[in-house]
Order: sequence, then C-alpha cells, then structure tokens
Amino acid sequence: MIKNFIKEHHLEYYEEANLKRYNTYRIETICKYLVFPKTKEELRDLLKYLNNSKERYIVLGNGSNVIFKNVYYDGVIIILTKLNKIIIDDDIIEVDAGYSLQKLALETCSLGLEGLEFACGIPGHIGASIAMNAGAYNSSLSEVVESVEVINSNYEFVTMTKEELEFDYRNSLFKREKEYIIVSAIIKLNRGNKAEILEKISKRRVKRIETQPLDMPSAGSVFRNPPGMPAAGALIEQCGLKGYNIGGAEVSNKHANFIVNAGGATGKDIVKLINKVKKEVKEEFNVDLILEQIIID
Ligand SMILES: Cc1cc2nc3c(=O)[nH]c(=O)nc-3n(C[C@H](O)[C@H](O)[C@H](O)COP(=O)(O)OP(=O)(O)OC[C@H]3O[C@@H](n4cnc5c(N)ncnc54)[C@H](O)[C@@H]3O)c2cc1C
Repeated sequence: MIKNFIKEHHLEYYEEANLKRYNTYRIETICKYLVFPKTKEELRDLLKYLNNSKERYIVLGNGSNVIFKNVYYDGVIIILTKLNKIIIDDDIIEVDAGYSLQKLALETCSLGLEGLEFACGIPGHIGASIAMNAGAYNSSLSEVVESVEVINSNYEFVTMTKEELEFDYRNSLFKREKEYIIVSAIIKLNRGNKAEILEKISKRRVKRIETQPLDMPSAGSVFRNPPGMPAAGALIEQCGLKGYNIGGAEVSNKHANFIVNAGGATGKDIVKLINKVKKEVKEEFNVDLILEQIIID
C-alpha cells in the first residue's frame, strides 16, 4: 500500500492535501497524497513503486501550466522543490529540477550572463520548464540547455544531450515519454554586458506588468498563437469575450489570451470557459485554437 511505502521510506508527505498553493490558478483540488522527495534516489524509488503498483501520479513543477479539472485527484502529486541544488561555474550552470527558473534567470542576469533574459517572467521550475521548452521573445530553453539527467523508464539515471530531447515549439520528448523525469540540467550561457542585460529585463518586466494580468491567478497564455493569423488574444477579443465569466473563471480584461481566477473558480469552470472561447473563435474565424495549458483529470 502506498502509505506503507511512503512511511517505510521516510518520505515527506501530506495526506488529503489541498493543492491551492501548488498551482498558479489557485484551484482548490485535494489530492490523496502530496509528496516531496528529498533526493533523486527517493524520487526514483517512488516512481518505480507507483508505476509497479499502478497508482496514479503526476510530477509537478510550480503548477504554472496546469489546470486541475476535478475537486479531487485520486493519486499522488510529487513536487520537486527539495531538489534545488545549483552550481554556477563561470558560464556553466548545473541546476536541479526543482529550482525556480525565474530565480535562476535573475541570478544569472545579475552576474552578467546572457541567455536566460527571456525567462525572467516565467514562473516555472527548471525540470518542468525544460519539458515544456518554455520560452518568450523568440527564445526558449532549448537554446541554452546542454544536457539533462533523467530517470528513464527502467529507473536508471541517464544523461541525455539536447539533440536527444526532440525540442520543438513548447514541446520536447518529455511530453510524449511521460515516464521520463528530469532531475537536473546543465545550462550553458555566455558572458555579456551586465548593464545591457539588466536594462533589457527591466524593460520587459514593465511591459509584462502593463500588458498581462499578473495581479490575478492564472497559468499564463491559454492558447498558442495560430500561425499566419492575428494573435490568439486578438481573435478572442474580437469575439467580444473579454471579461466573459463562468463561475469564477474569467477571460482577462487586460489580455484576452489569459484566463484568470477572479474568485472561487474551479477547474471545471476554467475548462468550460476554454471550450466556450474555442467554440466562439471557431465560429467567427474558422480557427481551431490549440491549448497551451495541461488539463489534469
Ligand atoms: C503569469 C505567467 C506567465 C507565463 N509566461 C510564460 C511565458 O512567457 N512562456 C512560457 O513558455 N510559459 C509561460 N507561462 C507558463 C508556465 O510558467 C511555463 O510553461 C513553465 O515552464 C511551467 O513550469 P512549471 O514548473 O510551473 O510546470 P508545471 O505546470 O508544474 O508542469 C508542467 C508539465 O511539466 C511536467 N513536469 C513537471 N516536472 C517535470 C520533470 N522534472 N520532468 C519532466 N516533466 C515534468 C508536469 O507533469 C506537467 O505535465 C506563464 C505562466 C504564468 C502564470
């Protein structure tokens, strides 16, 4: 039984835990167990046990790209914030999966290192953000990741080079191979001009504050921008959907490609609103919007 395993292995865990703090939509979902592995070996043993015993589980980063659809998750949520070591050796960084991407970006920019300026406004963790190939301003993590250490489907620790990670727009091998979990990464940056780097990130920060609803819970952009068309936000706005609300889920008045939790939204409200937006945009422009966020059933 899962509880015996957790106790025998002295894992840090919470039973019937509320995930509100662990997803940026601040949805209130209860999970059966919330576990924080302290080492990569603990994580490996836990994954092996969960797969062998056919328990449901998800490894989460900062929960800034997910929607918990139901009020109960009958499984184990694994969070890697205890795997958070970092070594900065000149322009080479070795960093664990649970480290904050935003923090790493700000730290390296402050050291005059170039390459992660785009990531200063992305509130993810390193492992998940590499899996999502997070990016902005035409840059993405695939440009700076040299290699990652993963737990593979045989529960071995292996190093995979960036060529093996099938990076694409907001996509990588990890979206297909759900059993592969990133435990750490090697990132290579370049020496740059510190003053210029700091000015760049400061300007972008102001722009984000001006254009995005950062004061409300969300999970960033909801849909991809359709190729060869106006941006998803513009299409949604032209459908007159800004401010449209289902439950507490609302199309942001500031940026129509953001859905915000305006108070008490459930995952179901958010999913209903997503479907409404997709339907309206399809009817008005004959465009099938593609969801960027991940719905967890
Ligand atoms: C205000 C705001 C602004 C945002 N701006 C951007 C932006 O500019 N660009 C952008 O790309 N995104 C943006 N996002 C979305 C989000 O922050 C990114 O996608 C981020 O990289 C997700 O990281 P996370 O740790 O929160 O992932 P989570 O949401 O926790 O997880 C995402 C996926 O990764 C998987 N995963 C988690 N850990 C691992 C691991 N160790 N190994 C393998 N798979 C793993 C999870 O199972 C899940 O499927 C924004 C979000 C917000 C709230």
